[in-house]
Amino acid sequence: MRSLISWCQGSLRSLYPGLRVLGFSAPRLLGLFPVVAVCFIVSLGYISVVIVTLLPMLATRPLLAKAGLVIVHGILALMIWSYTAVVLVDPGSVPPSWSFACLGWPLELRGSPEARRLLEQMDGAGLYDSSEQGMLAQRPRFLPNDKIKLPATVLMRNSFGRYRFCSKCLTYKPDRTHHCSALGRCVLKMDHYCPWTNNTIGFYNHKFFVQFLYYAFLASLITAVISLPAILHRLVEETTNEQTREFVIVILGLLGWIICLVFSFTLLFFAGFHTYLVLRNKTTIETYEVTDPAAAVVLEAFDLGASANWKSVFGENLWGWLLPIWYGHRRGNGVHWETNARHRVFV
Ligand SMILES: [Zn+2]
Repeated sequence: MRSLISWCQGSLRSLYPGLRVLGFSAPRLLGLFPVVAVCFIVSLGYISVVIVTLLPMLATRPLLAKAGLVIVHGILALMIWSYTAVVLVDPGSVPPSWSFACLGWPLELRGSPEARRLLEQMDGAGLYDSSEQGMLAQRPRFLPNDKIKLPATVLMRNSFGRYRFCSKCLTYKPDRTHHCSALGRCVLKMDHYCPWTNNTIGFYNHKFFVQFLYYAFLASLITAVISLPAILHRLVEETTNEQTREFVIVILGLLGWIICLVFSFTLLFFAGFHTYLVLRNKTTIETYEVTDPAAAVVLEAFDLGASANWKSVFGENLWGWLLPIWYGHRRGNGVHWETNARHRVFV
């Protein structure tokens, strides 16, 4: 039994490096409310397309109904799988080797509240004693920004033209990393915080998020297209029969159909927008940064062409494009970023 559990854990780690299971603290539980709402919406859509439309069709057009049931359940399974992956997989955090503690504090933070707090903590915990030279090394070293030796090449700079750093996480930022206030830490290739998944979209769960958009769009579209005639037919039937339970189910199906109709348009927009971002190797945050000409030039450097950009998110393997798995995955680690040939001329 134990070997089975450890095999499952090993497989999960291989499929989802950095798997993060949500804790059960009060803020996290509140954050789970939208996740419960998504499950409720999916249930309404299921009532609409499966219970009200396809199952009754088995009696009149069995072949069509069976084919519909297989397709709908396949898409729903992939949608729920990719959604679960988005909710659970850690978007990626900055390695400890990028921290101020390892590389030295930026000179501009000398005398800052963060530095003072650290010194007070060290004094309070007895970690710093000016009489002991050995302990002296633990005091923050303040270095000019251009004297810092980062573990990987970075192209992006802050508004002063210096290496970007986070004074909350006390770390330097790899390219495309941003601080997420919802998670309270920096996230690699941060795209945005998504309340519907109670997670931030970043390097490790970006693919699952886009796959979820695709499968949710397909599920909504199929429901919106095929369910209305069956719902209206059942509505007339149940009104005549006056059977309360059946009537409630049809009303829930109608509600599910309306939601799926609205979502099929909304998700078409989001799926299209995120496909564009993937093909240009951009994130949602970076679409706002192009207003800064200097930042825009740097961001262009990560555009490797549509095919390579797609593979950098979805991997080389066709199964990886369809299934929300990490196995057989792509180049890169979210810290170091490949640049295009045009840009290499200048670096
Ligand atoms: Zn941060």
